[in-house]
Amino acid sequence: MKVAKFGGSSLASAAQVQKVCDIAVSDPERKIIVVSAPGKRDKQDTKVTDMLIAAAKARLHGESGEAEMARVIERYESIAAELGMPAGSTDAIAENLTGLLAMDTSDAGVFMDTLKAAGEDNCARLVAAYLRSRGVDASYVNPKDGGMVLSEESGNARVLDESYARLQALRDQPGLLIFPGFFGYAKSGKVVTFPRGGSDITGAILAKAVQADVYENFTDVDSVFVANPGIVDNPVAVSEITYREMRELSYAGFSVFHDEALEPVFSSHIPVNIKNTNNPSAPGTWILPEREVKDMPVVGIAASKGFCSIYLSKYMMNREIGFGRRLLQIFEEENISFEHLPSGIDNISVIVPEACFTPEAEAHVLARITNELQADDVYVERGLALVMVVGEGMRHTIGLAARACSAFARADINLEMINQGFSEVSMMFGISSDDVDNAVRALYDEFFPARVAAEA
Ligand code: ASP
Repeated sequence: MKVAKFGGSSLASAAQVQKVCDIAVSDPERKIIVVSAPGKRDKQDTKVTDMLIAAAKARLHGESGEAEMARVIERYESIAAELGMPAGSTDAIAENLTGLLAMDTSDAGVFMDTLKAAGEDNCARLVAAYLRSRGVDASYVNPKDGGMVLSEESGNARVLDESYARLQALRDQPGLLIFPGFFGYAKSGKVVTFPRGGSDITGAILAKAVQADVYENFTDVDSVFVANPGIVDNPVAVSEITYREMRELSYAGFSVFHDEALEPVFSSHIPVNIKNTNNPSAPGTWILPEREVKDMPVVGIAASKGFCSIYLSKYMMNREIGFGRRLLQIFEEENISFEHLPSGIDNISVIVPEACFTPEAEAHVLARITNELQADDVYVERGLALVMVVGEGMRHTIGLAARACSAFARADINLEMINQGFSEVSMMFGISSDDVDNAVRALYDEFFPARVAAEA
């Protein structure tokens, strides 16, 4: 049995929806189809989810939001019309969206999540209706009825364990099941969404729940590439990658597969096949528990901007029992999640996402570090980017760190931080955000030289 998830670009237009339906029915093993909301038809276009967010924001700011919602309704109507579905077939969608816009807004988080979720929800209803019009035994599954029970964290929900036992029953439901991605319900009955891009997470949860043989993740590229094709021309394609490698790369900016979607498939050892809706016969990339390293010790280079580092030093820090705990407690109490913690003998840096470290948070944290920990020196560096070189082969290959550092030196890039965990599946470098593209190109040329030489 297969669970297949289709991303927003695969559902952006009638032609794309047709491709999705052709793929869905072409393999009887495909049992559950997870859909995103319609995405962008071209670079200038707007995703339905973003249009819904605009409508919700308008209402939360005291406006009607009707013009924004009219654009969403129009999008579904044009897809249905181009699919040749009978007039009136999107009336229920229009009614649903208009009704949701009029909802009570007193809990802004719930209102926002309910509107965001409507993109996937109505897309799943439309796809199921279209498949039935083609004579396919297909039905829409409401995540509440299906049993997608999530934590009550608006926009940032996590699956609750009880979901798995409930969703397992979908195995025995007849016909093709069309399940909307991106959201579920809290125990209170409220709609809650995963973080953005979260339909991947829905698919992974369903794959684990029904113990699928494969989780197929359809997107708009033939495979995962070793570096961002927007930075490196024609990067090498990856045919196999492990869960651990993918987790590191997704964390550091690979957007093909959501990093939080890896946990359910990792814990149940379900292989993931990233495939292209526009070229379904291409083998795609397999995400697996293990891979043969062969000649690819490095499998990917990723970079992510938007971090800052809080550096502090205190003479004899190494002798002060409990210093680290007290430092992290300050971050915990200020509700800031830390990402990394590189340290020296008498100094330590706390790396946090810049978005969480507002000027207000900075003032609090710095004052507390100075007063409570009596640090000798403390300062903040913003505009930090993290570059990761990832590969299971690192454990057994000598000299990779030296090669990476030489590549940075040749590109005249100053290293602010180097971090290599004992797992040795990745090396992480902190550099200025301005140097990111150069850094990725320099590392690519270093670790994939055959390709560079062939092009020269
Ligand atoms: N539609 C949602 C988003 O744009 C979720 C998804 O596409 O996976 O973030």
